[in-house]
Amino acid sequence: STSIQARQAESEPRGGKQFPGSPRSDLKRVLVTGGAGFLGSHLCELLLGRGHRVTCVDNLQTGSTANLSRFGASNRFTFIERDICEALPASLEVDEIYNLACAASPPRYQADPVHTMMTCVVGTNNILEIAERCGARLVQASTSEVYGDPLQHPQTEAYWGNVNPTGPRACYDEGKRAAETLTFDYLRAGRVDARVVRIFNTYGPRMQPDDGRIVSNLICQALAGEALTLYGTGEQTRSFCYVSDLIAGIVALMEVAPNPAQPVNLGNPGEFTIRELADVVVRLTGSRSPIVHLPLPQDDPQRRRPDISLARSLLGWEPNVTLVEGLEPTIAWFANAQRNDNHERSG
Ligand code: NAD
Ligand code: UDP
Repeated sequence: STSIQARQAESEPRGGKQFPGSPRSDLKRVLVTGGAGFLGSHLCELLLGRGHRVTCVDNLQTGSTANLSRFGASNRFTFIERDICEALPASLEVDEIYNLACAASPPRYQADPVHTMMTCVVGTNNILEIAERCGARLVQASTSEVYGDPLQHPQTEAYWGNVNPTGPRACYDEGKRAAETLTFDYLRAGRVDARVVRIFNTYGPRMQPDDGRIVSNLICQALAGEALTLYGTGEQTRSFCYVSDLIAGIVALMEVAPNPAQPVNLGNPGEFTIRELADVVVRLTGSRSPIVHLPLPQDDPQRRRPDISLARSLLGWEPNVTLVEGLEPTIAWFANAQRNDNHERSG
């Protein structure tokens, strides 16, 4: 850990006080894996806007180059189409790494469960090795799914979770738990200045319309006048964080010193049933779509709400976009995407 402390001291701005969440003054070379995905593309955009050089590595499994088109022209942006389970260019030199590569939607990560597990374990180990070689600080994207179907509510970082290790969600839940294990092993051994963020359900523009997650499904169904699909009773809860709040939080976690040396929850503590979410979407879209109930998938968590006391005290961070404030631009984005899609098909 001495080497990490030395590196941290080197990377702080000279003579300047470090405020939680404030950008370090120097410009960085940043690697974002999964940068063509929903969260990754917003992160790339924020980092480029701050003047950093960004390399995005993505296999385009669930991401899309359309998400990168707005900054593809920047000479500070590089895209490498590659699976993180494979070797990355040996010449790659970076100061910071955000490891976001991994499908996040249940139907998507379950479509090839072995690949999901490999992404989390082999892929994360590859990225940790790059961080070690470069002396780069790393933020590993973990998830509220490490709490499984939680028996403690709301979930604090101290809770060890209630995960079925052999069920259909295990490739992701256990994969992410193993990725946390690897990350903390590298950290304890003094090999990498690594941090772990446990992300709770996050939504916003650039989610893939066919991704299968609740917010994108409901909005697309409502806009198309199709039935809104609620799995089970719709009484299960989730807490929904708007993307700009989440991205601000993970950047703050990258910048905070000293290393927190424990996972940090990021999410919006506002808790809603899926039925309530559907009602808000119907109201905001003015949709006449009916609601249909479909079977609840196996091991679907009953409730989920982050305790964000640690993020508040450590990072001075908290979300400030309400559900309605976040759904409005998200709905507008999907409506526009559908219009462009129809236009392309008819043109
Ligand atoms: P996403 O599916 O939109 O993005 C994931 C990106 O990673 C995609 O661009 C995909 O092509 C890429 N990818 C997947 N496997 C890869 C591999 N092996 N090699 C290279 N690229 C690969 O999902 P997202 O919502 O943007 O999630 C990003 C990260 O945040 C994931 O690690 C996810 O587990 C985590 N997370 C997200 C949420 C959320 O609500 N959005 C919640 C918890 C955790
Ligand atoms: N869900 C639903 N209808 C859908 C998609 C999802 O009722 O069309 C439910 C799902 O069963 C879960 C919740 O919404 O209870 C959140 O699902 P999502 O896949 O978005 O995220 P996760 O389960 O990983 O939190």
